[in-house]
Amino acid sequence: MTNESCLKKLRLINSAESLPLQIKILKMFIPEIEKKSLQEIKSYQEAQIPKLLEYLSKYSKYYQRLFKDYHIDIESIKTIEDLARIPVTTKDELQKNNTDFLCIDKHKVFDFVTTSGTLGEPVTFAMSDADVKRLGYNEFISFACATGCTQDIYQLMVTMDRRFMAGLAYYSGIRKLGAGIVRVGPGNPGLQFDTIERIEPTALITVPSFILKLIEYAEKNNIDYKNTSIKKAVCIGESLRNSDFSLNTLGQKIKEKWDIELYSTYASTEMGTAFTECSAGQGGHHHPEMIIVEFLDENNQPVKEGEPGEVTITTLGVEAMPLLRFKTGDICYHYTEPCPCGRTTMRLGPVIGRQKQMIKYKGTTLYPPALYDILNDIDGVENYIVEVYTNNIGTDGILIYVGTNEADEVFRKKIKDYFRTKLRVAPDIQFEKPEIIAKRQFPEMSRKPITFIDKR
Ligand SMILES: [Zn+2]
Repeated sequence: MTNESCLKKLRLINSAESLPLQIKILKMFIPEIEKKSLQEIKSYQEAQIPKLLEYLSKYSKYYQRLFKDYHIDIESIKTIEDLARIPVTTKDELQKNNTDFLCIDKHKVFDFVTTSGTLGEPVTFAMSDADVKRLGYNEFISFACATGCTQDIYQLMVTMDRRFMAGLAYYSGIRKLGAGIVRVGPGNPGLQFDTIERIEPTALITVPSFILKLIEYAEKNNIDYKNTSIKKAVCIGESLRNSDFSLNTLGQKIKEKWDIELYSTYASTEMGTAFTECSAGQGGHHHPEMIIVEFLDENNQPVKEGEPGEVTITTLGVEAMPLLRFKTGDICYHYTEPCPCGRTTMRLGPVIGRQKQMIKYKGTTLYPPALYDILNDIDGVENYIVEVYTNNIGTDGILIYVGTNEADEVFRKKIKDYFRTKLRVAPDIQFEKPEIIAKRQFPEMSRKPITFIDKR
């Protein structure tokens, strides 16, 4: 089946033209549990809770201590609501007690990765052989959600090494999907286009802002990028949409230039699970076999649908480092009405910000992504770093380092006016050469660009 026919067949699901075909496709693409009622999904997940708690009380030093200190009778915890009686696990706890989270012998760990901790030092994360298989299954159903099929060839534009989980996850998922892969890694637009020409991949796996770099390179080098084999991109690390699911500035900029299908994903090392959009583009689908999700407010109380809440996860089926009520720090909206693709699972909106990065600026509450969205929309802003600090009156100040070749007062006023129009407030702007910003964005050890510095 070609990629086009995969897409076409998936779209038929919405059209009610051929019921037998629809059923066949649904069976092919969607795990059974993802088509059940929300109540059935809840019951399915609750059946996993006792197993998980027993496992943690047997093997996790950290949770053994937590259950003891808080007098948690694990046998009394049977529903997702009951979980609220167990204290949440924060990133700081994970960092301070890192090895106490490991539930298997070190010699049984197959793959070690690290994730950036909030207290500076990286956090070690470990996976057993079964965990890597679980990760592969997760990406398999995630790619399938984003119309992936055996005829696809994915160009992997994220790193496979550097103690990074994502590259390995995609690799394992594509293998399980039965599709093809070409591992180019990040950067190097010349090599990316050479690969596209040689291998004729159908899909890119990339940070979406890099697609803009590819387009820029293609335009400079007369590459007919619009007529390549690429039909879609699975995008990681940055949001493509606003909370109403319309494309944000980054998404629009890509689509205007290169009309490929864009699929947003949201994932993290700690949850070992991805939320990936289907072709309806209405949020990342929850895979109930992998993870229990709660949305909590600042006081760890559940928020209602339609209110922003911190994504708090409990992993299912993880052997080496399972997590219970782990607060990811990411603030999202969630939606529970069924999706046109046939899945009935909860959908996760784009990350509107990180709890710790919340900025109270001149009476307005902001998250950095809102600033990025505006900066991405201003021609002449090549790159940027947003710095937040405590000013001399004890409130938050924002200084934006803008990399540009048009450093003058007219441009500064243009940027400030644009911020005022969009957010009612204008942060301070400091101009730098784009090369200097680029250097600061990618320090030696970094795998992701640094666009936010918190000095508070
Ligand atoms: Zn869907």
